[in-house]
Amino acid sequence: MLSRKLLLSTLIYPSLIAVFPATAQAENPAEFATCVEQLKSTALQQGISNTVVERDLAAVNYVERVIELDRRQPEFSESFATYFERRVTEDRIVRGRELLAEHRSLLNRVSKEFGVPPQYLVAFWGLETNFGGFFGKMPVLDSLATLACDQRRSEYFTGELINALKIIDEGSITASRMQGSWAGAMGHTQFMPSVFLRYAIDYDGDDKRDLWGSLPDALASAANFLRGIGWRKEERWGREVKLPNGFAFENAGLGQTLSLSQWSKLGVRQANGSALPRVDMKASLLVPSGHQGPAFLVYENFHVIMRWNRAEAYALAVGHLADRINGAGKLSREPVQSPRLNRDQVMQLQQALNEQGFAAGNADGVLGPGTRAAISRYQKSNGQIADGFPGKELLEQFGVVTE
Ligand code: CA
Repeated sequence: MLSRKLLLSTLIYPSLIAVFPATAQAENPAEFATCVEQLKSTALQQGISNTVVERDLAAVNYVERVIELDRRQPEFSESFATYFERRVTEDRIVRGRELLAEHRSLLNRVSKEFGVPPQYLVAFWGLETNFGGFFGKMPVLDSLATLACDQRRSEYFTGELINALKIIDEGSITASRMQGSWAGAMGHTQFMPSVFLRYAIDYDGDDKRDLWGSLPDALASAANFLRGIGWRKEERWGREVKLPNGFAFENAGLGQTLSLSQWSKLGVRQANGSALPRVDMKASLLVPSGHQGPAFLVYENFHVIMRWNRAEAYALAVGHLADRINGAGKLSREPVQSPRLNRDQVMQLQQALNEQGFAAGNADGVLGPGTRAAISRYQKSNGQIADGFPGKELLEQFGVVTE
C-alpha cells in the first residue's frame, strides 16, 4: 500500500514537488557522507535554516532496512476478500464506534467546517494507523535521506526530505519526535511531508501543526486534505447494490461511468432491493470478487479516496468501514475468496492473455485492474460471465494450476 501512496503523491501533487537533480547514490558510508553533503547544500539553497541543516540534516544515518523494505515485492497477490476482511474487522468497527462517540463534539465541529462526515475521518484514522495505535517508529529524516541517496527514486525523496526539514524549521515538530513509516509517512493519518506542508493545519490553537500529538490537528488536517482533493460534502462514497440475473458484467470497472438512471435501466437496485436514488449522479460498478461476491456502485467521492491511496480495495475498505462505524450492517454478500496466486502464476496468466490478444498490459506479476479487464474481455469472447474474476476454472483454462 505504501508504494502506491508514494506513487500517488508524485502523480497528483507534481506542483508540490520541486525538481531536484538526482543525488549521488550511496553504496557505502563514505558515499552516503558525500551524498549528505550534497543534500545540505540543496537544503540551504531551498531556504532551510543553517541551524536545522547543521543540527538535524548533518546528523542523519543511513538505514539499510529502508532500502530492503523499498525493494520488497510480495510473493503472493492478496485477494480482495483477504485484503478487505483483514482491514474491516469487527474489532475495528467497535473501536471506531467508541471513538466516534468519544470525540463527537470535535468531529462534528471539523465536519461542519470542512464538509467531511465524522465517520469517514474515523475510518481513515482506523485504516492508516489503527486509530493512532501505530505511527511507525522510523526517524523520518533518516528514512528520507537514505532514499534520497538511493538511485531508484532519488529526486522524489530529495524533495520530501527538503519538505520534512521545512516542517522542522517552522517549529511544528523536532527531528527526534518526527517518526514515521520507512518511507516517511507521518502521524495519525500518515501524511507524506509534501501533503503535510500543503494540508496540515493547527486546530487546537497552539500555533503548531502536530499530527503526532494533537488529535484535533490530525483530524482537521485529514478533513482539510479531503476537501482539498475534491470531497463532495453532500454525497456518499458509493453503496452496495444488487444486480439482476443475466447482468452484463462487461459494464463493470472504474473505466465505465453511467448515470444512476442508466444503472437503474440496467436493473441495478440497492442491496435491500429498493430502487436507486433518483438523483443526477454518475457512478461506476465494481465487482471486486466476481459475480458471486458483493457489487458496488461508486461515486465521485470514491475517486477522492483513491487520491489518498490509489487502490480500489483501500477505497472500498474506507467506504464500508465508514458506513459500519456510522451504524450500518454487514454487506449483504460476503467477498468471495479467489485462489492464491504467486507472481509467476500471475505473469503466466498475463502472458497467456496477451498472446491471445486480450491486452493485459505489461506482465508484471501484479493482479491489477488492467489484468481484470483483460480477463473480462476473454470471458466475454468465450461466452462466460465477464466479471474479470480469476476463479479456479478460469485459471485452469490458462494452465495455471492452483492448490
Ligand atoms: Ca496544534
